[in-house]
Amino acid sequence: MDDVHEVGPGADGSALTLRWSTGGDPSSRSLWFDQAQAADPRPARDPLDGDTTADVVIVGAGLTGLWTAYYLLEADPALDVLVVEQHVAGAGASGRTGGWFGAGPAVAAVRIAAVHGPDAARTARAALRDAVVEVGGVAAAEQIDGDVAVGGLLTVARSPAQLARLAAEAEAARVWGDEVELLGPDDVAGSARVAGALGGTLAPDVGRLQPVALVRGLVDVLTGHGARVAEGTRALRLSPGAVVTDQGTVRAPLVVRATGGGRPAGGRHAVATAPLAEEVWAALGLRRGVVLADAGHRPVRALRTADDRLVLSLRSARQPSAPSGQDLAAVLRLHRALAGLLPPTAGARTTHAWGVALAGGPLPALGFDADAGLAWADGGGDDGVAAANLAGRTLADLLTGGDGALTRLPWVVRGAAGASGAAGGAAARRLAGRIRAAVREGAATLADQEERLTGRPSRLTGLAGER
Ligand SMILES: Cc1cc2nc3c(=O)[nH]c(=O)nc-3n(C[C@H](O)[C@H](O)[C@H](O)COP(=O)(O)OP(=O)(O)OC[C@H]3O[C@@H](n4cnc5c(N)ncnc54)[C@H](O)[C@@H]3O)c2cc1C
Repeated sequence: MDDVHEVGPGADGSALTLRWSTGGDPSSRSLWFDQAQAADPRPARDPLDGDTTADVVIVGAGLTGLWTAYYLLEADPALDVLVVEQHVAGAGASGRTGGWFGAGPAVAAVRIAAVHGPDAARTARAALRDAVVEVGGVAAAEQIDGDVAVGGLLTVARSPAQLARLAAEAEAARVWGDEVELLGPDDVAGSARVAGALGGTLAPDVGRLQPVALVRGLVDVLTGHGARVAEGTRALRLSPGAVVTDQGTVRAPLVVRATGGGRPAGGRHAVATAPLAEEVWAALGLRRGVVLADAGHRPVRALRTADDRLVLSLRSARQPSAPSGQDLAAVLRLHRALAGLLPPTAGARTTHAWGVALAGGPLPALGFDADAGLAWADGGGDDGVAAANLAGRTLADLLTGGDGALTRLPWVVRGAAGASGAAGGAAARRLAGRIRAAVREGAATLADQEERLTGRPSRLTGLAGER
């Protein structure tokens, strides 16, 4: 369900309108929530207890909001930071990922280069790659046990056309500073034994992490440093200097919207198997920390969890429709993909299936209206986990008056235009988002068919969107 809210105008009568997505039904728990709860059972944190004040109030305890709070306190430990979350921390997309984190597709740099020039695109790519290192570094420094392992994204070609396309993509990625390695079939087999693999690529800046463990670890670090995190507290209105919630009003000179908003971008679905036996892992040969993807235009990503399950996920035009966030067609497709890619998993039992509407594009989108004291960061699309860290660091720098290199990245918007950029026409935008996602999915299917028929890389690849 696409849960979209409009807020505005501001309490002072300004024309500000902000939009956000709640990220779906909190009752649909991912594997990650179940694992975290089993390891460390904890009740929801207390909601806000009536009206209060803070130096900064952050709406949304997903990774974007939590990383923003983290870096704010790092910049100024004396700051009074309050995070308000309508459900529990991580209830949105952050707690339901497919389990990987990475710098995202290098091809997205082309868009930046078209508007801001090639140097800006290279700087932006470097910042996204650095975010992967930063996430792992902070998790280690703060002793957050988030099962972080960075083994790279192994994309496997199973037809000559796919192999040719991967080679061209690796070459193009180098322009943006991405060191994507071309692999022969033996190299691929060293990381994963995929049926029919002809070769592939390895992009190093990708790994796996347990997102709810990271979310909870960040909450613990924040509260340990004196920040408040109020769960079960829904923001009803954001305006300069105040957030009205269903539990009271927070007055704060700085307000951050970190609600996972952004342009609707279809859905993402994931399934987890039960823990697989050691002999199955021996047959699969999938190295821990390696994220496996097929080279189709609607790729499935797979990884091995710390407790020896396989988690698979795929993007689709359809948003998860059932209240649980599960989508039978997507689950069936994931099962077929699993059996096709990794035959030794045939018969593996699925224990979890989850999904949630995706928001945002392949690049971060954030900004700060210094006059209104309002900052915002939208969901980072498919690769939002590392992007959320980058967004948090950037927002903290903007809010504390810094002007470091991150604040000059091409996606940073300053002024009211950014805060109100998504104003008006929510229904039309949802429809446009669905149409875009459906066109990409149709093009992806056709592109795969074209490659099967011609044996050459498809000319529709560009239309199918970033993989
Ligand atoms: C199924 C799925 C799998 C994905 N897999 C991956 C992956 O493997 N790797 C990757 O990098 N990216 C992945 N993504 C994308 C990634 O999860 C997101 O881009 C990222 O987590 C966004 O973080 P966020 O904090 O901006 O948003 P969210 O995590 O959605 O956080 C926003 C928070 O705001 C809260 N909120 C909303 N409205 C209000 C309100 N009015 N009052 C109070 N609180 C409110 C929500 O409850 C939510 O907790 C996936 C996304 C989906 C949907």
